[in-house]
Amino acid sequence: MLITSLMLFFLNVYSATTTRQMMFQAKHASQQDKLQLVVSSFSGVESLTKETAEQVMNVLGEMNVTRILITDAQARVLYDSSQTRNAEGRIALFEEVVQALQGKDVFHCVYSSGALISSGAMPVVLREKPMGCVYIIEYDSDQGQIIASLELNFLRFSLILLGAIILCSIVFSIVGSGRMRKILTSMRMVREGEYSHKIQMRGSDELTTLATEFNKLTDRLQQSEDAQRQFVSDASHELKTPLASIKLLTDSILQNDMDTGTMREFVSDIGNEADRLTRMAQKLLRLSRAEDAQSQEHELVDVGEKVSSVFRLLVPLADSMQVELTGSLARNCTVLSIEDDIYQIIFNLVENGIKYNHENGSVHVTVCHTEEEVQLTVADTGVGIPQDAIGHIFERFYRVDKARSRQAGGSGLGLSIVHELVLRNFGTVEVESKELSGTRFTVRFPYFGLEQEDDDARI
Ligand code: ADP
Repeated sequence: MLITSLMLFFLNVYSATTTRQMMFQAKHASQQDKLQLVVSSFSGVESLTKETAEQVMNVLGEMNVTRILITDAQARVLYDSSQTRNAEGRIALFEEVVQALQGKDVFHCVYSSGALISSGAMPVVLREKPMGCVYIIEYDSDQGQIIASLELNFLRFSLILLGAIILCSIVFSIVGSGRMRKILTSMRMVREGEYSHKIQMRGSDELTTLATEFNKLTDRLQQSEDAQRQFVSDASHELKTPLASIKLLTDSILQNDMDTGTMREFVSDIGNEADRLTRMAQKLLRLSRAEDAQSQEHELVDVGEKVSSVFRLLVPLADSMQVELTGSLARNCTVLSIEDDIYQIIFNLVENGIKYNHENGSVHVTVCHTEEEVQLTVADTGVGIPQDAIGHIFERFYRVDKARSRQAGGSGLGLSIVHELVLRNFGTVEVESKELSGTRFTVRFPYFGLEQEDDDARI
């Protein structure tokens, strides 16, 4: 608005100046012609006197000027066309007259009170000497009106244009700032925790795009808030169970007189529950670290070697549960991943294979690769997973058989950790299971080996 106002102001000033300038030039030319006509009429005259001046003016007749004066060389008025304020015989003390008597052609013009007032003087030269001058004054209200109406029209046009621009600016700013306010209000609401709030905005401009992106952001916030809430409620529920057992056991010890043997048993149960709490805390910690993928570096890891390390650790558990642990591990099955993650994935899957198995059952691990991927398979001959539970086993704290899981020291977090870790190492995990017959987990990672070799069993 400010820029437009300034532009219109300068345009008005410029146009007014130019119009006046043009009018002044036209007036100058016409007055020069008139002065020239009068002066040239004296060319055949012997001397400049009152009589000769009157004679010339009579011959010329009506000159269409406001007033015409003819003076002699001393600026004494010889002829004055004005009847009302006749100055004949008096000295004409006009600047134009003085300059004209010095031999100069003079012209002045001003625009004032709606009229063009112009005055000009020209010397009358006889025998190469200025013998007097002709002085013309014109008061032209017609041309003055033309200037006034031109300026007025231009001003009116500018004001209408300015008004229209101000109106448009106000409308646009009200509409624009209304939409902006809508976004700001929504941002404040989301900041207060109202993630379900959505901005309703139509159109296809930048503000609509901003609103759409904002809605997507709040969707993500809502999802992560839900997941976090679910996690906290699940975690506190799971932590409550061992804590309640510990409380129950300590109350029993405190309230009942019991023999040392029973007391030892109770205290050992308290120890087991405390171990369970520790394991759960460790797994929760691992899970939260798994979500923070940026913090760790990826490196080349041989999956077969990791299986061997896991086997060394789990053989005692497998032996104690009378489960056979076997594997077919091809060489050079390298993947680009976080070393600890691969170890943890294999550990959790093999440990589950042992935990949820029958006596004299088996767990078989296969590692092989194609040109694109490394495949890790953990197949057991255990209790299997019911079909309706398969879709839930990767959820946090989900357990098919709570009692069996607790007895085996489970927390319902092992497979959700596997899932998170596989995903952050660019892999996929699948499960097939048949109740009472066994379960097979297949994990695939992109292959990063340098040379191709045939599968070669090492264990
Ligand atoms: P948990 O700590 O209870 O073992 P997981 O997340 O590792 O928790 O497993 C979730 C549930 O999936 C287990 O409680 C168990 O019921 C079932 N499950 C996992 N692996 C197997 C398996 N190999 N065979 C049968 N059931 C399994």
